[in-house]
Amino acid sequence: MSKAIRMTRTGGPEVMEYVDVEVGPPGPGEATVRHAAIGLNFIDVYFRTGLYPQPLPAGLGQEGAGVVEAVGEGVTEVKVGDRVAYAGRPNGAYADVRNLPAALLVALPDKIDFETAAAMMLQGLTVQYLFHRTVPLKAGDTVLFHAAAGGVGLIACQWARVMGLNLIGTVGSAEKAALAIEHGARHVINYNTDNFTEKVRELTGGEGVSVVFDSIGKDTFAGSLDCLAPLGTMVSFGNASGPVPPFNLGELQSRGSLFITRPTLATHTAKRENLEAMAKSLFGVVKSGEVKIVVQQRYNLADVARAHADLEARKTTGSTILIPAH
Ligand code: NDP
Repeated sequence: MSKAIRMTRTGGPEVMEYVDVEVGPPGPGEATVRHAAIGLNFIDVYFRTGLYPQPLPAGLGQEGAGVVEAVGEGVTEVKVGDRVAYAGRPNGAYADVRNLPAALLVALPDKIDFETAAAMMLQGLTVQYLFHRTVPLKAGDTVLFHAAAGGVGLIACQWARVMGLNLIGTVGSAEKAALAIEHGARHVINYNTDNFTEKVRELTGGEGVSVVFDSIGKDTFAGSLDCLAPLGTMVSFGNASGPVPPFNLGELQSRGSLFITRPTLATHTAKRENLEAMAKSLFGVVKSGEVKIVVQQRYNLADVARAHADLEARKTTGSTILIPAH
């Protein structure tokens, strides 16, 4: 028997039950991974609340790192004993041990430990595709990045510094502002005390930014559009405050031929060759020390309800991992 989180209904953190599960042998194309550490991500909250629907009962969690214990028929990507990490669906990472498609697994370089890997795969691959596969960016470009002291945010601040981007970050407190600056943001705006749109105009001499990376959704979407220079791009990639309401395409026209995209990591990693190239790029900046993965919170897997409550209450900064019992 091993331990895992299961939910039979959607709702608050209390719907996550820590239960005994039997993990059978891996099916064709699958591998069994024993987790050393598990990543916590905001997308887990969307699945828990039902904002992103899934058939129930279900597991949760999309990210982990550990050792391959068994492989099913036809698996070529990994072998027993490999140190691996992954990010992506199907949900079920909140577990000591699990079966999952071997095509999701990436071999970990020796220099990267399990906790770092579990903290960075989903958030780091996200920054990789946002900065390298979504909008053409070059040194000197000014971009706005919301929630700059969060998990994705602190990686983005550092990766922006590597690329020479002038990143303006938004955050919800003075402590978070200091953290974002320390990690490479050029400017930080506290959107709880200041009007971020006005501040962005001030910081850019009235011009606006060329790209906004908005993972907050409902509360910031309209203001984010107002931060863009003509021909700028709105990258709406999350809904921490709730989903973006339907909007009129004319909003893009009236602000000067804006572009908009609503990307997701799964599309970018769907082809194995892209996943491998993106992981290589992420491992490169982490191994060189240019991007440090900041694990600010650790919880036992059994305490995942507390971890979710803290993430939703905006109490966390940087990345969060869950530690299985074994
Ligand atoms: P974070 O660590 O960034 O936590 C979310 C942060 O959002 C909070 O700390 C808070 O920071 C800010 N926030 C603003 N409004 C709210 C609100 N109403 N409720 C809760 N938080 C709020 O999480 P992650 O790093 O895991 O993810 C960041 C975002 O990126 C999420 O929206 C996630 O869904 C998205 N994402 C999208 C992906 C994609 O491919 N599309 C992939 C990965 C992540 P503050 O207090 O500073 O405002």
